[in-house]
Amino acid sequence: MVKVKNLNGTSNRVPLDGSSSWQEWWEKKKKRKFGECSRINCSVKAEVGAHVQKALINDRRWYIVPLCRACNSSKSENGFYVDEKDLEPVNQ
Ligand SMILES: [Zn+2]
Repeated sequence: MVKVKNLNGTSNRVPLDGSSSWQEWWEKKKKRKFGECSRINCSVKAEVGAHVQKALINDRRWYIVPLCRACNSSKSENGFYVDEKDLEPVNQ
């Protein structure tokens, strides 16, 4: 698992490849469907492709990760842990 922080001010960003949502974009990249929320210890169905950055290491890339609505709206300053295999880097 990896610690991430939810990025603020990204809700106006749309995928450049024509995907209608970040969920659709993520599912195309990963070649699998959204399942449970990626946050550790949360098993609610993921509904949002959230923009996050890793919190602990020197990696300034942005990633999309599947979260449930509650986890996406909790803007914890301390970050939270997600399953690293669910991170997909955004190159834009
Ligand atoms: Zn959740």
